[in-house]
Amino acid sequence: MKPIRRPAPKLAGGATPLSALRGVGAAVAEKLAARGLATVQDLWLHLPLRYEDRTRLTAIADLRIGEPAQVEATVEAVERGFRYRPLLRVAVADGSHATLVLRFFHFRAAQVAQFRPGVRLRCFGTPRPGQYGLEIVHPSYRVLAADEAPELGESLDPVYPAVEGVGPAVLRRLIGQALDLLPEPAALELLPPSLPGLAGLPGLRDSLLALHRPPSDVDLAALAAGTHPAQRRLALEELLAHHLSLRRQRLAQQRLRARALDGPGALARRLTASLPFALTGAQQRVFEQVRSDLAKPSPMQRLVQGDVGSGKTVVAALAATLAVEGGGQVALAAPTELLAEQHLANLRAWLEPLGIRVAWLAGKVTGKARAAALADVASGAAQVVVGTHALMQEGVAFHDLVLVVVDEQHRFGVQQRLALRDKGPAHGHVPHQLVMTATPIPRTLAMTAYADLDVSAIDELPPGRTPVTTAALSAERRPELVERIRAACAEGRQAYWVCTLIEEAEDDGKPGQGAKLQAQAAERTFEQLSQQLPGVRVGLVHGRMKAAQKQTTMRAFKDGDIDLLVATTVIEVGVDVPNASLMIVENAERLGLAQLHQLRGRVGRGAAASSCVLLYQPPLSALARQRLDVLRQTGDGFVIAEKDLALRGPGELLGTRQTGLAAFRIADLARDAGLLPQVHALADRLLEHSPDIADRVVARWIGGAARYAAA
Ligand code: ADP
Ligand code: MG
Repeated sequence: MKPIRRPAPKLAGGATPLSALRGVGAAVAEKLAARGLATVQDLWLHLPLRYEDRTRLTAIADLRIGEPAQVEATVEAVERGFRYRPLLRVAVADGSHATLVLRFFHFRAAQVAQFRPGVRLRCFGTPRPGQYGLEIVHPSYRVLAADEAPELGESLDPVYPAVEGVGPAVLRRLIGQALDLLPEPAALELLPPSLPGLAGLPGLRDSLLALHRPPSDVDLAALAAGTHPAQRRLALEELLAHHLSLRRQRLAQQRLRARALDGPGALARRLTASLPFALTGAQQRVFEQVRSDLAKPSPMQRLVQGDVGSGKTVVAALAATLAVEGGGQVALAAPTELLAEQHLANLRAWLEPLGIRVAWLAGKVTGKARAAALADVASGAAQVVVGTHALMQEGVAFHDLVLVVVDEQHRFGVQQRLALRDKGPAHGHVPHQLVMTATPIPRTLAMTAYADLDVSAIDELPPGRTPVTTAALSAERRPELVERIRAACAEGRQAYWVCTLIEEAEDDGKPGQGAKLQAQAAERTFEQLSQQLPGVRVGLVHGRMKAAQKQTTMRAFKDGDIDLLVATTVIEVGVDVPNASLMIVENAERLGLAQLHQLRGRVGRGAAASSCVLLYQPPLSALARQRLDVLRQTGDGFVIAEKDLALRGPGELLGTRQTGLAAFRIADLARDAGLLPQVHALADRLLEHSPDIADRVVARWIGGAARYAAA
């Protein structure tokens, strides 16, 4: 019988369904799809986490602790016991004058029967020190027949990220089949080596094969570090795809029309004159950029990055006056009610004296008040509307929305931002958008992450701020800190104590579990500190509390009715409490620098000298020490972002959470930052000379999900 020929995959851009592979029924396909693996092409890109080297045998005497190895040996003795739990120990030897113990905690009777003295085994695992020399816990193994000598593998065995419901062997076989369907380079390659930045890198096909089936002499250290040329090649193409997709969105955006807000700016001048302070140079510069965007008949798409306290709100208020002057409405959305309330207070104080009506729309505005606010928004009587997610809801209709301001944009979902933008006037116009963030990221990253936006930086703090003194302290010195809090509160100051959890708890993979443990840790700290600090009014906020409860506590802290606020990182985007002058962060070594910097920004907002204490669990690694030192040495968020990138430790914040970026399969913005100039040059070249190739690159990597960051 002739073998059935499987259809070759459609070439780049097209997708081959998984049903083209043998052994993929509906059930398996569903499990794979749940993991985002819907096509043969997706399997190509499901890359190994690590590799096991079964290409050679290691003598037991040469085994090294912690280094995975393959051993061929004969069973010498078997011990089956029960101490706390069932235990099976198999001593094996290979004539190299050393013994290895294979140790099992879970095993079946049939397995025990296999291990008779004299039986030969080939096994693989990671040796560790045991009671009687080296041991391997739960090795993978096979029993060899009397004179069987199976061939050694030619390439390293890939270990793939697990797919729930699909065993590792099945997954490996399917990926192997998918790789057999890889077309020849000519049909697969979208980026010939003649393009800038590709010289010296392998092609796509070779890269995929090198990563799925690395030859035994591959540079494993490079693979583990993610710097192997094959990895760089894939990361480059993936970054390029994302960058191109954003650039395309930007081009599409520029073709839309918006109301040109090019009035004389009289209201803006009056506002500036009425402020109790002078704008900083950076605020003036950024406002001029915003103003020139708004004057154009295409929608502004500008991101303003500025450190906490750099004064972004007043720039937004100035932009709002231009919209009002042009006869339109402004919506300003903040991610939490408290933050939105703060904006409301500021905008009312600044804008109402100019005769501008500011309305308020949040979840807790209900009944008559809500109906009245909605009516004002719909009629246009309210020129500026401040609120939370409530602004984005369906029932909210604007009379003539021309400017949308979104604060802390990464806290909003893409759909929410789109929903707000879509509330603009119907006749082919869209509102201008101003997006603000307190998480500065380095310029090259911003060019990639926000390629659909123009980016401005308020890189200067208003004068007269006392810098926050930062110290790193071992957790053993906690009692001293408790004293310090007592002293500060006795002087009428307020303090924050931020609890963060150690990694294990967050990493157990169960959604929600991290938040739960985190909340428990905060509750424990709250109880301890309440006991240790009689006379100090202690409050608690964490992510598992009801929103209303959180708000009440935050407000009490703001009003000075609570002296010490114990919190999880939920306070990160938070409230201005100028009287708070002490910030304590537990397990600081586990947090990203950007996040620590944000937390620190909660203090130092008033006249009093403030301090931030970073508590760490000793011993501190050299890298962790260096990272904490960065925070001690500088208060400039942009410098911190650059260092963060250079030092890159665990828990960095350049991923999806902070930037609102789509997750990458292969690329890692921090690790691959060096590729970004190449990515930008390549993108320029393709957009100019080969837009069809640009489209295919985007389709291959992003496909239908391309609308993610458009808002
Ligand atoms: P952020 O950029 O963190 O949103 P805000 O807009 O909340 O900062 O500003 C922080 C504080 O600084 C506010 O009290 C604001 O009124 C004040 N502020 C803003 N600009 C200036 C300035 N140029 N000089 C002095 N104070 C300013
Ligand atoms: Mg702000």
